[in-house]
Amino acid sequence: MPGGELVERPAFYALTVWQIVAFYLLAAAALGVFFYGSYRKLRKYLRGRPDPEAKFCLSRLVRAAVGILFNRTIVRGDWLAGLGHLFLFWGFAVLFITTLVVLVDFDILKLLFPEYRFYRGDFYLGLSWVADLYGVFLLIGLLMLLARRLLMKLPRLKYLPRPEAPGFPSPAAMLREDWFLLLLLLLLGAGGFLLEGLRIRATGEPGFETASFVGWAISGWLGAAGVTTAGANGVFPYLWFSHALAGLVLVAYLPYGKGWHMLAAWYSLGMQPEENRTKLPRATENGSGGYERWQDLTRDELVSVDACTRCGRCHEACPAAGSGFPLSPRDVVLALRTHADAASKTNGADGPPLAGGVVPQPWLWSCTSCLACVDRCPVGVRHVPMIVQMRRYLVAQGQVEAGQQDALTNVTRYGNSFGQSARNRSKWTQGLEFKVKDARKEPVEYLWFTGDYASYDPRVQGVTRATARLLERAGVSFGILYEAEQNSGNDVRRMGEEGLFEMLVEKNQAALGKAQFQHLLTTDPHTYHALKNEYPWENGRRVVHHTELLAELVEAGKLPLQKQVELPVTYHDPCYLGRYNGVYDAPRRLLAAAGATLFEMPRHGAQGYCCGAGGGRIWAEDAPGVHERPAESRVREAARLAGVGTLAVSCPKDLVMFLDAAKTAGLDASLAVRDVAEILEKAL
Ligand code: SF4
Ligand code: SF4
Repeated sequence: MPGGELVERPAFYALTVWQIVAFYLLAAAALGVFFYGSYRKLRKYLRGRPDPEAKFCLSRLVRAAVGILFNRTIVRGDWLAGLGHLFLFWGFAVLFITTLVVLVDFDILKLLFPEYRFYRGDFYLGLSWVADLYGVFLLIGLLMLLARRLLMKLPRLKYLPRPEAPGFPSPAAMLREDWFLLLLLLLLGAGGFLLEGLRIRATGEPGFETASFVGWAISGWLGAAGVTTAGANGVFPYLWFSHALAGLVLVAYLPYGKGWHMLAAWYSLGMQPEENRTKLPRATENGSGGYERWQDLTRDELVSVDACTRCGRCHEACPAAGSGFPLSPRDVVLALRTHADAASKTNGADGPPLAGGVVPQPWLWSCTSCLACVDRCPVGVRHVPMIVQMRRYLVAQGQVEAGQQDALTNVTRYGNSFGQSARNRSKWTQGLEFKVKDARKEPVEYLWFTGDYASYDPRVQGVTRATARLLERAGVSFGILYEAEQNSGNDVRRMGEEGLFEMLVEKNQAALGKAQFQHLLTTDPHTYHALKNEYPWENGRRVVHHTELLAELVEAGKLPLQKQVELPVTYHDPCYLGRYNGVYDAPRRLLAAAGATLFEMPRHGAQGYCCGAGGGRIWAEDAPGVHERPAESRVREAARLAGVGTLAVSCPKDLVMFLDAAKTAGLDASLAVRDVAEILEKAL
């Protein structure tokens, strides 16, 4: 450098030896607090159940890491929060790396290998420039997030008092912590720049410091404001200490609050297979039939609840929370986390059971298992399996609401939730001009597993017949099991009755074993999911939904469509077809082929809204406080689309729910509810 000027940052500039010693002592204390907290977290995780499904997978970890670097799960669904967090994330990451560089260069190399010191010269100048740039990003991100909180007043960031859940943190305490973390980061970011400017001013503004362009500008402003070099030198140690203290407070605090998500989210997103997001574990190995204590949660689950940032996306997406049911998936996670944190400190009694104690029963029974919460969560929390595990415990204790208990009893006794004779299962075929084959007696290509609602509910039987006529017209070889079919068990399983589910699987598999068929067909997305993903087929089975098969038939020219229905419609994506199994296109292709004009509701596709029937809710009473059932919210959403008079569905339960909801919402005269198959038949 010209004149032999040393290009580097003077470490501990203007600090006395005692001040430096005090800093190291404080840093050691902060690290001690951090490591103790981290040890406690680790010990808590190790007291959870090992997850038999968890497998180390390098490619998944790499994918998750790349996703995290781009904040993929945060940007998805909320670009403003995502962008703010992306700025904050990268700003923080680069400043953290810069601090590590200083630490290695000054605290290790300077003491042990001074000849290898590298934080000087061009490297110093380059890193100073980059650090200033990313420091600006950090501040932009923080200001975006602060402005979003202050100006947008998002309901999902509002916490609810939960007196019914013992030990649940108060809204004020959670809000305080949110602000504490944001303001601490702001203090660190803004304080760092001020400190840099003061140092440049105090050291006489050496020319090479222009690389630290923000600090350089601040130094200039300080000079313009009359701050002399001597004055800057006098103030510098105090500001340096406050900045260092803020940094150490952040380090020490991390394992004790929501800042822990910075570490836990990596594990939560990286260790849990994406394909398992819809999976329910088999009955727990802990012998208790569900989750009774916090240690029954798997280690992955314990980490994932710690990763929760209280962003409220799950709460916002939850149809139960939106309707006034007492459930909030966010609060389930927070209740579990608070309890596990407190209980893991004691080695003795763990207090109340999870289900019905830590997490109140009405919360658990409000869930429709729609999976919206899991899909929206940016840190990979899987709410549904935890809720079902706690329901399993309640079921094992006989704590089930009367309506749902009746349905379970009916399924046990009669094999269907309607409590009707098995012989009535095929009654829907009466009135057809052809005989539906009995797949137990003659071979068929498609075995149609009709499901309870499509078979027994008089409001749905017309759709079932329409589907049969379409298949017959297309020359499809299909048959049913007649009285040998039983409820597929999807909703039974979501209710937590795992034993009954396994019994139904056994019976259905025995019946299917006596039939000759190549593929399974169903009109019921709940049945579709169970057959496709939860029945243990030895050699795999192709399972198709009627909309998939009909779309294939239309596209292969086997269903000659003679006319266009010219109907403006909107379409509701059933959770178990769309969100669970990714079938979004086939029903839409059918509607287009039939000549219907599709108008999408604001909540459609992956952002679709549940009808409220899943998870056994179709058998349950409404909770007190419900102001608008999910199905009513949905029919109103459909009715708001100008010119649309038909709500198309592809699930028997949706049909039933929306027909009822249209009546209670006073929309039955203006909004027809039709299955896609019925609309298609009109085009023949
Ligand atoms: S699965 Fe659906 S109803 Fe259940 S908690 Fe999640 S969002 Fe709410
Ligand atoms: S569980 Fe996930 S989506 Fe819900 S508040 Fe926590 S981080 Fe957000």
